[in-house]
Amino acid sequence: MIYNEILKKGVNFLKKNKIENPYLDTELILSKITNKKREEILLNTNNKLKNKDITKFNKYLFRRYEKEPMAYILGYKYFWKHKFLTNKSVLIPRPDTEIVIEETLKYLPKENSKKILDVGTGSGCIVVSILKERPKCNATAIDISKNAINVAKTNAKLHQLENKINFINIDIDKYKSYNYDLIISNPPYINCIDLNRLDDDIKLHEPMLALSGGFDGFRDLKKVIIKSKKLLKINGKLILEIGHRQKNQCLKILYANGYYINQVSKDLSGKDRCIVSTKLQ
Ligand code: GLN
Repeated sequence: MIYNEILKKGVNFLKKNKIENPYLDTELILSKITNKKREEILLNTNNKLKNKDITKFNKYLFRRYEKEPMAYILGYKYFWKHKFLTNKSVLIPRPDTEIVIEETLKYLPKENSKKILDVGTGSGCIVVSILKERPKCNATAIDISKNAINVAKTNAKLHQLENKINFINIDIDKYKSYNYDLIISNPPYINCIDLNRLDDDIKLHEPMLALSGGFDGFRDLKKVIIKSKKLLKINGKLILEIGHRQKNQCLKILYANGYYINQVSKDLSGKDRCIVSTKLQ
């Protein structure tokens, strides 16, 4: 079978299950199994595909048909300026989370060496992106998922940061290391009603542990806010990613715990997404 035929077959198959970008996804899958760039595929559509590659192609295509996200099928996702390995143990890095990077960098002058903690590091996309921009800083990244910690470690290695980031598989409740200048967290923050309304791509394939913030969505945000009071230095910053309807409640919790609010920022679609606050005393 030649590329052109298999691409057509692939697109038609994905369309049957209403997959959003059938052309792009089919091309990317073919590019993965042939080890050729997408451009190369499109310029050589008369190339023949080996039989064992056809079997492989069908296997990957079926995963996409079942709504598995491309980041898991391909095994990577680009975030900020880098490529991150991804698998089912970690949430796929989102463009919306890049606002957290942008805001954090504003509070980290290039020349200073600060001590950073990333709570619920997942793929490690946040902590790795920050340390790439601020090489004088050092960080600890924690996660309750052992598998996530393994993915994050691999990503740190991939970006030559294995000596700068200390990864620990622990719950923040049990964590006892103090004097951080800055704590960042994109905790699970989806409430049980919204969780049910998520797209199948997310609901069926991404780790629930990384998505569900308990009944009201605030379980982990609260936990991080309260524990960070202990872990931060005076005047240390707490930078949180939040759900777009969680701003007011989050500000309330932060004020109640004695934080000063520096700013609230919106994501690419204009939704409240990131809060920067300061532990005052
Ligand atoms: N910190 C990771 C990210 O931003 C994981 C977040 C999570 O698992 N809730 O992608």
